[in-house]
Amino acid sequence: MKAFKTFVAALAIGAAALTSAAFAQDKGSVGISMPTKSSARWIADGDNMVKEFQAAGYATDLQYAEDDIPNQLAQIENMITKGAKVLVIAAIDGTTLKDVLQKAADGGIKVIAYDRLIRDSGNVDYYTTFDNFQVGVQQATSIVKALGVEEGKGPFNIELFGGSPDDNNAFFFYDGAMSVLQPHIDSGKLVVGSGQTGMDTVGTLRWDGAVAQARMDNLLSAFYTDKRVDAVLSPYDGLSIGILSSLKAVGYGSAEQPYPVVSGQDAELPSVKSILANEQYSTIFKDTRELAKVTAKLVDDVLSGKEPEINDTKTYDNGVKVVPSYLLKPVLVDKSNWEEILVGSGYYTKEQIEN
Ligand code: BGC
Repeated sequence: MKAFKTFVAALAIGAAALTSAAFAQDKGSVGISMPTKSSARWIADGDNMVKEFQAAGYATDLQYAEDDIPNQLAQIENMITKGAKVLVIAAIDGTTLKDVLQKAADGGIKVIAYDRLIRDSGNVDYYTTFDNFQVGVQQATSIVKALGVEEGKGPFNIELFGGSPDDNNAFFFYDGAMSVLQPHIDSGKLVVGSGQTGMDTVGTLRWDGAVAQARMDNLLSAFYTDKRVDAVLSPYDGLSIGILSSLKAVGYGSAEQPYPVVSGQDAELPSVKSILANEQYSTIFKDTRELAKVTAKLVDDVLSGKEPEINDTKTYDNGVKVVPSYLLKPVLVDKSNWEEILVGSGYYTKEQIEN
């Protein structure tokens, strides 16, 4: 019996040694709450963060909420209950997290807003994202250049689409784009054929491509039966795909009636392929590997009592406080540079794009 007990004890010690070897440095658990798997970028964000955090010695709890707000709240509550040390959250609706974040703060849990600002709560410690205003500037600049507006060409007809009005980013994208487009609208070189402007009119709830497609259908039948639409400001690849389908259905995409200049964002594979096929005109590449890296480093610094690196302390006022932020640079991608930017950086292989 004694020998058996010794054997069991030895087994237990062995198991403990194994466990601690598997988690070389056990720094605790990070709750990662992502909005949806319906877009490739968030899958990449989640995967990249798991990799970065695990390499830095953390356990991870990655959850996707499928664009359902109560679902995201329940997932975050569960992370808190399970003892997460930090929450990294890309919110579905940036205004719905106030109560759950109070619970996090009461438990001493740090909160990082990831890519999308969390609004109306003082319990947001840091924000890691891209320069969202610049994204809009790049989208609009690409349209203006493609049309040749600054060389005096035009007037051109344009339609505007915005992102989800519950996502703070959508306003930054729209405002950035309008900072470039508005002067040309004022001078008459760009004409919004429908007259529809402003986020309250052109926003697309939950970034839903089908909603954008339906709105484009309506715009085309109400305002473009006797004229051409020359450009469409689209803030996200998933919307661009819907908009292009709508255009195709009424005959755009032929030699006599080429597609308008359509922007996008995220460099998702279907849209990069669409750019190569002369359909979508451009997209914005946001390197999610970098965002994951920066976020994991920031969390590790905060938890080890170091001052984390931030590079913006004035842009992102969430209604309660200005959240200290780290902004990465977005990059415009079109037919002229996709290979250099997307393949050169190792984000995609050439085969993935060309097949
Ligand atoms: C992100 C974009 C993305 C959009 C839709 C935004 O918050 O910043 O990269 O295209 O959400 O998922």
